[in-house]
Amino acid sequence: MILEDGEYSSEYENIDVKDKIVLTKGDIKIVYNLAVEKFGAIGIIFDGMKEVKPIRHRMDIPDAVQYSSFWWTKKDKKCFGFVLSPKEGERLRKLIKERIKNNESPIRVKAKVDSKFYEGNIEVVSAIIPGETEEEIIIISHLCHPQGTANDNASGSAVNLKIAGTINKLINEGKLQKPKRSIRFLWVPEMTGTFAFLAAKEERIPKMIAAINLDMVGENQDICKSSFLIERTPDANSSFVNDLVERIRDEFTKDTKNPFGAGRFASFKYATTPFSGGSDHYILSDPTVGISCPMLIQWPDKFYHTSLDTLEKVDPEMLRKIGVIAATYSYFLANAGEKETVWLANEILSKFKRKIIRFIQEKITEISSQEDLKKVAIKLINLEKRINYLSDCQKNSVTSLKKLSSINVNRFDIEIEEFTKKEFQRTKKEIYKNFSFNENELLEMYKDINKEARKRELIKEFEDKKKIKWENIAEETIISRIYKGPITEDTILNGLNRKQREEFYKLKKENEEIYNLLRTLALYWADGKRKLSEISDLVELESGLRNTEFLIKYFDFLSKCKLIKSKIVK
Ligand SMILES: [Zn+2]
Repeated sequence: MILEDGEYSSEYENIDVKDKIVLTKGDIKIVYNLAVEKFGAIGIIFDGMKEVKPIRHRMDIPDAVQYSSFWWTKKDKKCFGFVLSPKEGERLRKLIKERIKNNESPIRVKAKVDSKFYEGNIEVVSAIIPGETEEEIIIISHLCHPQGTANDNASGSAVNLKIAGTINKLINEGKLQKPKRSIRFLWVPEMTGTFAFLAAKEERIPKMIAAINLDMVGENQDICKSSFLIERTPDANSSFVNDLVERIRDEFTKDTKNPFGAGRFASFKYATTPFSGGSDHYILSDPTVGISCPMLIQWPDKFYHTSLDTLEKVDPEMLRKIGVIAATYSYFLANAGEKETVWLANEILSKFKRKIIRFIQEKITEISSQEDLKKVAIKLINLEKRINYLSDCQKNSVTSLKKLSSINVNRFDIEIEEFTKKEFQRTKKEIYKNFSFNENELLEMYKDINKEARKRELIKEFEDKKKIKWENIAEETIISRIYKGPITEDTILNGLNRKQREEFYKLKKENEEIYNLLRTLALYWADGKRKLSEISDLVELESGLRNTEFLIKYFDFLSKCKLIKSKIVK
């Protein structure tokens, strides 16, 4: 039976899939829940190819096989699956359609699957360069994907191994001193291995000062269409690690000269991006775990998670650069004392000032193009909120330095606060002065709106009335976390019956673009004291996205599965 995607119940209305094998391009887990669990199919053939925007569409790599998996618990119906390349899939689709058209007998496929459930172990490889204290710096990489697996993530695992060997050799040769803190090297099955490693000896977690995740670091940028990214920790875990790794990366960004050598720039593409998740750093950086961990990754990658992720797409020079960055980061942190901490505090402060100035520069342009006076006032209020938020995050980064050395950070906090205030006052004055509107009028309006400038009020005036209902519920809800570490989708699905899963998938599909980011960030901010409305505010300040309705519905599923506690307060 052919399904285009098969992700909605309605697609099954006129076809009988019972005891048949379905061919689909859709989300396999959703198809399993509907085709197999609900409508009785016995197997799945998948010919989908996940798009990686803007560099990979389904037919861009027609001969590649997409890395796909789905699974079930003992209470669910057993099922098998096979994956075809898009080209093979198209051939099969055409054949099936022709048979139907000509009233011929249906295609028969033969499948033999030999598998069983059994108790197993998760293997986590750990190596350590011992320091003088019990504190540790961690370099983590995952090694668990089916072939091809060159860039994801043999590349990260290989760099990790090379760093361990190199630092160890330099120490043995007397070229580097033995570090103060230990450096631990971890090779894990992605996510599951990290959960297992942390859970095995929870008491050592507070000694883990910082980490770095190496995930897909080898890409040949021209072939794979990638950029080298530093992904920062989430704002709920603001940390010194971000500015440090960026500072080390910047040493590499002047490796090319202009024709007569007057200017220097990078020969490769690079960027720093906010936290987005999706690998082991999302477990470590969760505030309930508290091990700040940026990720080094090359993204996008045209061959990501396919059989074409092979060795000739790996660039040894990229491996070297990223290896040196991660090695420098970990050895520096393993030895950082008072002097290094004060230097890093100054780095954080200077970077913050640049960030604020850049941010305000953009906002002045944005506000200047407004014509509605009320919108100008609201934009100013949002600007104030946003720079106060940035300042709070940066103060938390400075505070996090206490993990390295017990320096007094007050002077940095004060400077951050005063700088923020001064820049905002200056901006406000400029906008009043340069705007063609009457200054007093704008001032009055600003004062008025600011008095009740809670987000909800703004929504009442300017947005969809339907949203207010959800904002009101959020105002009365407090979310408490029960477990340390983020909650995986599979954990939620295991706690739901088939019908609830269908509802859960519907929520996921309707919010596909924001689903992963919002659910992760919101859980990080849930500290058992904040109302869901405050969490929604913080997520919006962090990501620019607001969807309180989604968060309420999502947390409702979590509380049904007893994965969080939700409490109503008046
Ligand atoms: Zn992967």
